[in-house]
Amino acid sequence: MSSPPSRPALVWFRDDLRLSDQPALSAAIASGAPVLCIYVLDEESPGLRPLGGASRWWLHHSLAALATSLARIGSRLDILRGPAAPLLMDVAKTAQVEAVFWTRRYGAAEIAVDRAAKAELSGAEIGVRSFNGQLLHEPWEIQTKGGDYYRVYSPFWRTACARPEPASPLPAPSRLAAAEWPADAPARITLEALQLLPTTPDWAGGLNALWRPGEAGAQERLSAFLETRAHRYASMRDRPDEPSTSNLSPHLRFGEISPRQIFQATRHAEQALGVPSRDAEKFLAEIGWREFAYHLLYHVPHLQSRNFQPKFDAFPWRTPEASELRAWQQGRTGYPIVDAGMRELWKTGTMHNRVRMITASFLVKDLLADWRLGEDWFWDTLCDADPANNPASWQWVAGSGADAAPYFRIFNPVLQGKKFDPHGTYVRKYVSELEKLPDTWIHEPWAAPDEALRRAGIVLGKNYPHPMVDHGRARDRALAALATTKTDMA
Ligand SMILES: Cc1cc2nc3c(=O)[nH]c(=O)nc-3n(C[C@H](O)[C@H](O)[C@H](O)COP(=O)(O)OP(=O)(O)OC[C@H]3O[C@@H](n4cnc5c(N)ncnc54)[C@H](O)[C@@H]3O)c2cc1C
Repeated sequence: MSSPPSRPALVWFRDDLRLSDQPALSAAIASGAPVLCIYVLDEESPGLRPLGGASRWWLHHSLAALATSLARIGSRLDILRGPAAPLLMDVAKTAQVEAVFWTRRYGAAEIAVDRAAKAELSGAEIGVRSFNGQLLHEPWEIQTKGGDYYRVYSPFWRTACARPEPASPLPAPSRLAAAEWPADAPARITLEALQLLPTTPDWAGGLNALWRPGEAGAQERLSAFLETRAHRYASMRDRPDEPSTSNLSPHLRFGEISPRQIFQATRHAEQALGVPSRDAEKFLAEIGWREFAYHLLYHVPHLQSRNFQPKFDAFPWRTPEASELRAWQQGRTGYPIVDAGMRELWKTGTMHNRVRMITASFLVKDLLADWRLGEDWFWDTLCDADPANNPASWQWVAGSGADAAPYFRIFNPVLQGKKFDPHGTYVRKYVSELEKLPDTWIHEPWAAPDEALRRAGIVLGKNYPHPMVDHGRARDRALAALATTKTDMA
């Protein structure tokens, strides 16, 4: 019988902050070596996008949860800060590591960091083993018949669904022997020293109230969703007034739960909880949109910075006044559903998907602002700010993306409000000024009779704004802008 290796294994945690269905961790443990578990906050390697404020808040709590889970099984999370590749090399050499294990990432800058790390480690004869822990299918596994990547979602997801089902998720380890931290290795720092939490001011009260970052919180969300909401997902997922979606997105973003776990639990819920297959398929199809966004990110590295369709490079975006952009960001546009969405985002670090589409359309089409301005704001304020989903979705709304909504399809914020928040419950939750306005006017207070406004205590232009643009005219302006670009974008 061969004895287990005495040189340690090193697991480099990144966007996979969990212990269960964690193939990199399981493989490191299976090697029989003692294991070092590290996280590196890298804000220095070229091209990496700094995390936004809400993501930093989430990361702090997610790392705390991971450290607690590791301690519970006899191990430890070691935290470092700096350029990841040289730091990793330093730790691997001083600790005489046998092999490094990690979950693959798909952004261009992240891939460049990982390649540099792999080259250095391999040069020093240290093994590197990487795993898929973030997606159901690797982006290069799904191909068109011609061997190309997909630019349209439906055939992409059909092809993905025709593949063998994802393997069963791996269990979490119950014990983990931690390796010693070598005296001459780079200095570890505390979680607090990363300074990820907001201080002046501390705006995270609403986030603290809503979320429980970490693997246990993710599993709770999944169970609660499958038990109470999944059975009406297909019919209700577009309604911001009646919570009906899973709220799993920030947990997925930070890898606190894997898509394989979600896939398997959803299939199980069809049998065990009677979740109708129509709802289960719809839910998994949304996980499919996430897969598609990562497929695009991998094949189109500039997804966040450049139009997917180059013909949009000629589009005459306006540069909005600072005050216009602020009104949108702060939820003071005068359109209640837009304002409710932007305030929900600021308060809670999330926004319902339907309302994300409405608020994004308002910025890009009613204000004629470049989608990248909105993508940036969402990146800073969303807890689930995701390198694939965020730019792919913004480009989808703007019309410049893959399989995008055509630019000429412009959301009418009043009709959208009436359709998806028919009693104004969602608007009243976030726009307290309008609380007493009857349902009839809740999505268009400017159309309310003076008496209705007076009774509701609303003075337009004083305690709630007049609409900042006339939607009808803004729509015409957007269509005219489309027409001035000589190419046929529609
Ligand atoms: C302008 C805009 C920006 C967006 N930015 C992000 C972002 O930064 N991060 C992010 O995770 N999602 C983003 N989305 C997609 C979507 O709004 C969120 O994933 C969803 O609202 C999260 O809520 P949930 O977890 O309750 O979703 P559920 O409806 O429960 O769906 C389950 C999971 O499927 C995935 N998913 C659902 N809808 C989409 C979609 N349209 N595109 C890609 N994946 C999807 C998410 O991972 C989600 O957690 C954006 C959408 C728009 C229109």
